[in-house]
Amino acid sequence: ENSRIAMKRYITSKETPETVQAALKRPSQRSSEKIIAICNPIIEAIKTRGDAALLELTKKFDKAVSLTSPVLKAPFPESMMQLAPETIDAIDVSFENIRKFHAAQQDKPLVVETMPGVICSRFSRPIERVGLYVPGGTAVLPSTALMLGVPAMVAGCKKIVIASPPRADGSVTPEIVYAAHKVGAEAIVLAGGAQAVAALAYGTESVSKVDKILGPGNQFVTAAKMIVSNDTNAGVSIDMPAGPSEVLVVADASANPVFVASDLLSQAEHGVDSQVILIAVGLSSAQLTAIEDELHAQANALPRVDIVRGAIEHSITLVVDTLEEGMQLSNAYAPEHLILQLQDAESVVDMVQNAGSVFIGQWTPESVGDYSAGVNHSLPTFGYAKQYSGVNLGSYIKHITSSNLTKEGLRNVGPAVMELARVEELEAHRRAVSLRLGML
Ligand code: NAD
Repeated sequence: ENSRIAMKRYITSKETPETVQAALKRPSQRSSEKIIAICNPIIEAIKTRGDAALLELTKKFDKAVSLTSPVLKAPFPESMMQLAPETIDAIDVSFENIRKFHAAQQDKPLVVETMPGVICSRFSRPIERVGLYVPGGTAVLPSTALMLGVPAMVAGCKKIVIASPPRADGSVTPEIVYAAHKVGAEAIVLAGGAQAVAALAYGTESVSKVDKILGPGNQFVTAAKMIVSNDTNAGVSIDMPAGPSEVLVVADASANPVFVASDLLSQAEHGVDSQVILIAVGLSSAQLTAIEDELHAQANALPRVDIVRGAIEHSITLVVDTLEEGMQLSNAYAPEHLILQLQDAESVVDMVQNAGSVFIGQWTPESVGDYSAGVNHSLPTFGYAKQYSGVNLGSYIKHITSSNLTKEGLRNVGPAVMELARVEELEAHRRAVSLRLGML
């Protein structure tokens, strides 16, 4: 008999706020110092020995011993994209929805006359070269290739390079090659981990250097992204810090236990380090038991039940009396994914302060956002939803501002500039205005 797969249950009115906060803490991550110490020499090897080091490390970590070139260049041969028609359809549908939603995020140039004759404007330009990390390892993640690649294509990035660890035979999964082809990637770097990140950041003989690296990955990928983005000589930025995936479900008595359990499990199956949280608003103990029974039964029917078991070990249910308290706890946790299975879920969105992406109502499983609805699935984890947005069109563009003054404009704003320059004792600044005003 399988032991019960159950989340620990807390009734918040019977606990101190400190206990509740402690229960909401994320499982701590492995010492980053250790990981950094592993990544530094790998990054150094790529900087000094380029392709040769990249191939060596791919042989070592991904067992791709027969690989002779670390890069697969576009156009990718048809033979590498052989897929079942239904898989192609699914990728095409998802691609189109993601494209539509991200194309709508394009902003228009902004022009504001702050004083007569003083015209300020703001316009956007794509980041020219982006490197997209698509995790390999155990999973096949064409969805991540789409989530990172489609907005890059919509933004108009000139160079899109995808990096993903190859399989042991040196190949890339056809789903990823097809996604790379659809977003117009110019190359796929057949490497993973810190070495792939370093190759994108510094370039090698065959990998082109990029300006920004985006995408999730394990702790080596994350640490390497932090290291290269801190190196001013690399001139590369990253999307956001990353941690294990998580979901928080807020459910009331109207929620279907079958749906609640399935949503919790669809996050729990990501990895043993995933965390899932249920906030139960005013549920009776019979209703709670119904959800827990469902969770146990559905979990045991999953192929990844062992991963689920690990994730559920550090996952909890918080039973609260009011929706206000539930949403307060959710905002304090700042979940990557927030699912609202509530009577009037739409109206509750107003109460959401911190979350990566919200799934509203009982007919919106998180999986639709993971794959095909159109919203992005690369989202801030580990509480970073308090200050970061998920990947969006803005992740691939930068804004440039401009000022354009007429003579009248300089007359209007010049005195303020000269006075502040005087206060800051920057005489050349002051004169750049006074010399011009003297000629008017
Ligand atoms: P990965 O591509 O992130 O990492 C594989 C690489 O890790 C290898 O190529 C190797 O270079 C490096 N590596 C492994 N062990 C190492 C060691 N001991 N020393 C140095 N380098 C080492 O693939 P993964 O490991 O399967 O991890 C996938 C990650 O992606 C998970 O952390 C998971 O949470 C995350 N993920 C994200 C999403 C998403 O948001 N789209 C979906 C699923 C999974």
